Amino acid sequence: MLICSECGRQLEEKEALVHKAADGSKKIICPACFEKLTGVDYRTFAYRKENARQTFFAVLFCLAATGYAFYTRGWEWGVGGIVLTLLVYFFSSKAR
Ligand SMILES: [Zn+2]
Repeated sequence: MLICSECGRQLEEKEALVHKAADGSKKIICPACFEKLTGVDYRTFAYRKENARQTFFAVLFCLAATGYAFYTRGWEWGVGGIVLTLLVYFFSSKAR
């Protein structure tokens, strides 16, 4: 059983969150305290994090495809791929 270091509530392991304080120390806290400390509720936070991860993979995939197109089809395709990668990046960061 874990204990929230902010309010002292007992937490289920799946409920417990690790919050990194401004001084770099890590604390175990509950979702309610997470919201109090960060001003963002945990679902929103998790959603943004997941979204950022998906953007990262999408961009990585585009870069790989760009590199491949560059080597197999020439620099025009490489430039096109970079433009496409930037578009993917901007659209996915705006979708948040
Ligand atoms: Zn708490």
